[in-house]
Amino acid sequence: MFSKKIIDWYSENGRSLPWRVTSDAYKIWLSEIILQQTRIEQGTSYYLRFVETFPTVCDLAAASEQEVLKLWQGLGYYSRARNLHAAAQYIATELDGRFPDTYEGILKLKGVGRYTAAAIASFAYRLPYPVIDGNVYRLVARLYGISTPIGTDAAYKEFEQLLQHLIDRRRPDLFNQAMMDFGSIYCKPVPVNCETCIFRQECVARREDRVALLPVKAAATAVKERWFYYYHLEWRSDGQTLTLLHQRTGSDIWRGLYEFPLLEADHPLSDEELQQQNNTFFSSLHVTPATKAEVAFSLDHKLTHRTIHATFIHAILPEDSTPNIRNDKPYTAEGLKKLPISRLIDRYLSSMCKKSPAPFGKK
Ligand code: SF4
Repeated sequence: MFSKKIIDWYSENGRSLPWRVTSDAYKIWLSEIILQQTRIEQGTSYYLRFVETFPTVCDLAAASEQEVLKLWQGLGYYSRARNLHAAAQYIATELDGRFPDTYEGILKLKGVGRYTAAAIASFAYRLPYPVIDGNVYRLVARLYGISTPIGTDAAYKEFEQLLQHLIDRRRPDLFNQAMMDFGSIYCKPVPVNCETCIFRQECVARREDRVALLPVKAAATAVKERWFYYYHLEWRSDGQTLTLLHQRTGSDIWRGLYEFPLLEADHPLSDEELQQQNNTFFSSLHVTPATKAEVAFSLDHKLTHRTIHATFIHAILPEDSTPNIRNDKPYTAEGLKKLPISRLIDRYLSSMCKKSPAPFGKK
């Protein structure tokens, strides 16, 4: 029987992970949200920090969004952290702090889709919902020779139906974990260990020599390019070094995170265009820099569907400047350390620290 065979394999070869030794739905939910788009090696330390800082869903609900974003810093995809916080507040206020215990109830939480709801329902409550992540798609596509492009709604329904027949209804938690681990450890994208695989006799892809062709992936979404020009300004006032920062708002990336004044262009600026932009920017501040505004750092920062071509322009302003700018406010280096920032700003601050131990370089 398929489910027995894979659960037996799992009991000998499965990975021991901190969120697998609990049936606390809150902790399982935390781990699932953290591990979306994040490798286990990176996500584990974040999971442990979240559980330690917010031992219960009500602790998480009581935190400020800024605290949650700061703890999340470095993981990327910050909407996950905002949704986590909003869902915790919903559970604390609307559900009296009780985590939902049905698939449908879990699915109502902000940021929870079919995959995450099935994972929580099966791991925490042993409800028979199959979990379908990339590893499971690959394993099932190869075992059954399915060439429906994955990542589509049609594929999800087709794979879900098939897995509903395979799942062990008494041990859905172990079945799902076994499927994910087998796909991840054994039936890898490349190289594939077919000759020693426990399913080598029944595997359609192996029999038909289609292992390298499966699973079929849906066409990739085009990557959008954006050009960000950040202004890192520094000046002395009352014995402290200050810089300007604002919090991102709206529905764009990195909402809630802090960054330097930003001008976005729709193409890469030539030297003349950049000079022109600098002149306009500083005259709008009503400040003349004490040093020439220089490009301090440039890099391409890749996100899933975007590449940010970032340029950081550094300038020292005269002492006791009061730059006149919309939403940006002056912060000290100590103040900046307490704020959530994007990985991009973090990379810039690290580079500044390597160049010189400037007050705003990241130590
Ligand atoms: S035989 Fe190869 S392709 Fe088929 S399940 Fe095993 S490892 Fe995957």
